[in-house]
Amino acid sequence: MKRAELLVCHDCDLMQRGASCPPGGTLRCLRCNAELERDLPESLGRALALALGALVLFVISNLYPIVGLSVNGNLVRTTLWHAVEILYLDGMWPIAALVFATTILMPGMQVMCLLALLVPLAVGRAPWQAPLLFRAMYIARPWGMTEVLILGLLVALVKLSHIATVVTGVALWSFGALMLVLAGASAAFDARQFWSRVARATQPANVPNVTTDVASGEAPRARGERAAVPLTGAACGIARCHACGLLARMPAAAHAAACPRCGSALHLRKVASLSRTWALLVAAMVLYVPANVLPVMDTSSLFGTQKDTIMSGVVYLWVSGSWPLALLVFIASIAVPMLKILGLSYLTWSTQRRWTWLPEQRTRIYRLIELVGRWSMLDIYVITMLVALVQFNALATIKAGPAAIAFGAVVILTMFAANMFDPRLIWDAMERENGSAR
Ligand SMILES: [Zn+2]
Ligand SMILES: [Zn+2]
Repeated sequence: MKRAELLVCHDCDLMQRGASCPPGGTLRCLRCNAELERDLPESLGRALALALGALVLFVISNLYPIVGLSVNGNLVRTTLWHAVEILYLDGMWPIAALVFATTILMPGMQVMCLLALLVPLAVGRAPWQAPLLFRAMYIARPWGMTEVLILGLLVALVKLSHIATVVTGVALWSFGALMLVLAGASAAFDARQFWSRVARATQPANVPNVTTDVASGEAPRARGERAAVPLTGAACGIARCHACGLLARMPAAAHAAACPRCGSALHLRKVASLSRTWALLVAAMVLYVPANVLPVMDTSSLFGTQKDTIMSGVVYLWVSGSWPLALLVFIASIAVPMLKILGLSYLTWSTQRRWTWLPEQRTRIYRLIELVGRWSMLDIYVITMLVALVQFNALATIKAGPAAIAFGAVVILTMFAANMFDPRLIWDAMERENGSAR
């Protein structure tokens, strides 16, 4: 591939011609500095090896106990699955479903899809249902939260060590390893290389090759490094697939279409992006109040019952001497959701007002929001482990409180809101300004 390739930025929609990516290097957007392409040598082989490792670790992590708690010679152990079951039996099924989806279902789906896509390719065959499995993997990736679970487990261990003797289980270590291996596998998986291998493995006639169609057809006139008026994908009627990176020409007068390669939805701009982001944000703001005011955890013991809010949990950690953890929980559970709501409101509002001010910084804020949002799940996992382990009927029992549901909903709603926001809209105001200046 020696000829300059057409690239469309996923964050600002700028169309640019890129030299082919040097081995081991990256191509970045000229305008917003987003990573457009990364060359990973041996990408698919490495992803396959890591995915196989992840499968073994995933099985071990779910079969063996994570932690045990020993009180007066009485040992209570729990697996992750058992913890989910206890939440469900306590009537906290929304939290049980959330924990199940983010720590068992989604990571499992990610591993299985990776294997189903890469194993056939390794023996030179086209994977079965490649577009469907590729989409499933793409959807599962942001919702698998193994790394947040690990941090939650550590916080829970410290809290529990104040109550009784903590016995760590095999699954605690294997979950730690799974976190690293899974992150490595999904970082190593290069969608571009994957699809070109699939195209080679199948009959050429079956695979639509839209990239060449776009490049050879009505080629956009973006000459040189930076054109006077930036040319965007939308202006040329070309949309970039979010999942697989394919450039596809949108049918005339269509707002949405399916990617010809992986079948994901293609939009020149996400439909009603701003109003939908607002709707999700307002719902998150409303639920943020009960999430912080109502008790998140009920502890009943011989000395009576105690109701803890998120904030009183932080204070407890602080007073008991574990201030680094207090800080961690405060940042993850109180600061991050609030900053996320405020940050997204600012982005949505400024985009609605068609600000042309600091678009690059605003795009960076957006990327940061997308990145840190998941860490708010921390407290949910801490509560899950405490509820699963502190079940000494007469001595002490911990149950999840109503705020846990509200809090979980805030995390989910803000993640959806970040997903609904279209950063390319930030840059559209710039084009309007540039266009009218001429
Ligand atoms: Zn860009
Ligand atoms: Zn696609």
